[in-house]
Amino acid sequence: MMNNSFVSTVIEVRRTPATAEELLVALRGDSVIVVEEESGRHRLPSGAEWQLEPDCCERVLIGRLDGSDCSLVSLPADLQLPRPLQALELRRARLEFDEAVEVAVCRAKELAFWRRNHRYCGSCGRALEDLRDECARKCPACGAVFYPVISPAIIVAVTDDEGRLLLAHNAKFRGMMHSLIAGFVEPGETLEEAVRREVREEVAIEVKNIRYYGSQSWPYPNSLMAGFTAELASGAPSPDMFEITAAGFYTPADMPEVPPPGSIARELIDRWRNNFSGRK
Ligand SMILES: [Zn+2]
Repeated sequence: MMNNSFVSTVIEVRRTPATAEELLVALRGDSVIVVEEESGRHRLPSGAEWQLEPDCCERVLIGRLDGSDCSLVSLPADLQLPRPLQALELRRARLEFDEAVEVAVCRAKELAFWRRNHRYCGSCGRALEDLRDECARKCPACGAVFYPVISPAIIVAVTDDEGRLLLAHNAKFRGMMHSLIAGFVEPGETLEEAVRREVREEVAIEVKNIRYYGSQSWPYPNSLMAGFTAELASGAPSPDMFEITAAGFYTPADMPEVPPPGSIARELIDRWRNNFSGRK
C-alpha cells in the first residue's frame, strides 16, 4: 500500500454499498464532509464510518487514495449528516489536507460540477453516457464525446524597479481587500499572452520578464490557476474602474489587506514579502 498518494482512475458509477476502507469525498455545495479527530484535525470519512444509503446520492469512483478506493459522493443539500460527520468549507479544509488528499478533493469537486452541468449532448440534446475506458461522456445518438472542462486562468505578481508589488482591488472583493491581477485565458492565447493582456486591460501597464511560478487547482467551480511573476516594463497603474477599482505598487510596510492563506495568490504575495525584506 502506498501512503500519501492519489492516482486518478476512470470514473465508475457505483451502486453497491461503499466498502469499509473506501474513502469518501462527499461534497455539499462548496463544503466537504469530514471527520474531526481528537486532535482537532479533519480527515475524509471511510465507508466503515459512514454507511450511506445507496439511493441517497450518486457515488462515483474517481481514483485510489493511499491505496484505497476513493469515491465522489454528491450530497443533496438537505441530507442530515450522522454524527460525528461535519461539513467543512473546502477552502478551509484544503489548508489541513496533505497534497494527495487535496488532489482527490479538487478532482472530486471539478468532476461533480462537470457531471451536473454536462448531462446532455451539446450537439443533439440526448442524455450522455459515461465511457468505461476514459474519463469522458459520450452521446449514444450522434457519437460526440465530451471531456471534463477545466478553465485555465493566470495570476501574476508584478513588481516595479523598487521591488514593490502590484496589488489591485477587484469590484467583487469584500471590503478593501487587494490581490494580484488574475483572469481567464482566452481561446488561442498562450499563458504568457494572457498575463500581458490581463495586466494591460485591468491596470493599463506593460510587463516584461514573465516567468512561470507554479499552479493550483481552483475548483470554484472548475479552474486551474497558473501563477507567474513579471516586472513592470512601462506605464503607471490605472484601474479600469470596471473590474478593478483601485491599484498601485506597495511595499510590505504599506500594503493593504490581502487574501487569506490557501491560495496561490497569497503564496506569491508571501514569497514577494520574504524576498523584499531580503533586499538591501
Ligand atoms: Zn449527440
